[in-house]
Amino acid sequence: SSLSRTTFNSGGGGKTGRVPVGIGRRRLRIVVTGGAGFVGSHLVDKLIGRGDEVIVIDNFFTGRKENLVHLFSNPRFELIRHDVVEPILLEVDQIYHLACPASPVHYKYNPVKTIKTNVMGTLNMLGLAKRVGARFLLTSTSEVYGDPLEHPQKETYWGNVNPIGERSCYDEGKRTAETLAMDYHRGAGVEVRIARIFNTYGPRMCLDDGRVVSNFVAQTIRKHPMTVYGDGKQTRSFQYVSDLVEGLVALMENDHVGPFNLGNPGEFTMLELAEVVKEVIDPSATIEFRPNTADDPHKRKPDISKAKELLNWEPKISLREGLPRMVSDFRNRILNEDEGKGL
Ligand code: NAD
Ligand code: UDP
Ligand code: UDP
Repeated sequence: SSLSRTTFNSGGGGKTGRVPVGIGRRRLRIVVTGGAGFVGSHLVDKLIGRGDEVIVIDNFFTGRKENLVHLFSNPRFELIRHDVVEPILLEVDQIYHLACPASPVHYKYNPVKTIKTNVMGTLNMLGLAKRVGARFLLTSTSEVYGDPLEHPQKETYWGNVNPIGERSCYDEGKRTAETLAMDYHRGAGVEVRIARIFNTYGPRMCLDDGRVVSNFVAQTIRKHPMTVYGDGKQTRSFQYVSDLVEGLVALMENDHVGPFNLGNPGEFTMLELAEVVKEVIDPSATIEFRPNTADDPHKRKPDISKAKELLNWEPKISLREGLPRMVSDFRNRILNEDEGKGL
């Protein structure tokens, strides 16, 4: 299988003492950068759950130890506080490279740091992959399509990105990261995989990261109005986090470099999203309008035929099914926050 081929030290597992975890499959040692974040922590749960060893590298910029605390006593789990902008030496079979703030509020906070994370961080992880012969998966983004002139977006579309705008540190940073991955693939033979992730939501998102789903859900639980930016007619396609995790693992374990769009093609305007939140969380919820941010893409929807055909993957959880699954996690954290403030 593709797994045994990538096992560090040619499947021996001898040097690291790794043992088989099932018929025909050895335990892998896997790095997840950004593993303390929203998507990363769910991915780590999946990899630990199937019997592999996981090393998380995270600088805790937007990630939290709480997302991983349930794994601290597991001998197959290791957490390293480290910034991927600095080099690191490890011996591993696979690298899932997620480290990078994903919410516009966070990535605009220190744009130069966002670029350094995308460029130097990705370079370091590719250098590591090259040195140890590990397979490398990049979590790129639908933002590489910018404000798209093609709808829905296929992987063949080159995008419409402003190189000098407020979002450029992220969009262009990820575009450069994709370039680096392809250059290490072509030039150094590194096995790379590129995922272009569309808007994803679920438990463990930062409460106040400014993304629309986390904002609307937290606002509704706090009995505040949902803040709709602009006229609310811009669209996004929202994917539940477990679908994304399945897609990332399927991509890592298949033989195709990509890029692959990983997203849920269900497309909603922000006003429609607010309606769904109202319907599934609190029928008394209200909305209020706010000015929109600069360079906000007008529409976004993945064409996922390539991932369906080559990875045999497609999302299973609709927005109406997924939203209720993040409510208890949000409620608990909002409650704890209020208690912390003595409310
Ligand atoms: P997140 O902010 O929750 O997680 C990012 C993690 O990376 C955090 O734990 C953060 O502390 C860590 N990190 C940031 N800079 C770092 C650095 N220099 N060194 C080490 N660690 C660092 O975001 P997320 O939603 O989990 O996103 C994970 C990845 O998926 C990101 O690369 C993001 O660009 C990509 N992505 C996410 C979405 C989405 O909707 N969630 C969409 C497209 C792409
Ligand atoms: N690197 C790393 N860990 C490794 C191997 C490399 O962090 O195990 C870093 C290395 O410091 C360099 C980057 O990855 O900054 C690119 O490495 P590569 O060997 O491709 O290029 P070079 O070091 O020759 O510039
Ligand atoms: N948005 C909104 N209200 C909010 C936060 C965001 O209407 O409280 C809008 C935002 O203008 C954008 C869409 O929701 O059109 C998605 O924004 P988000 O930051 O979640 O993700 P991205 O822009 O990166 O897709």
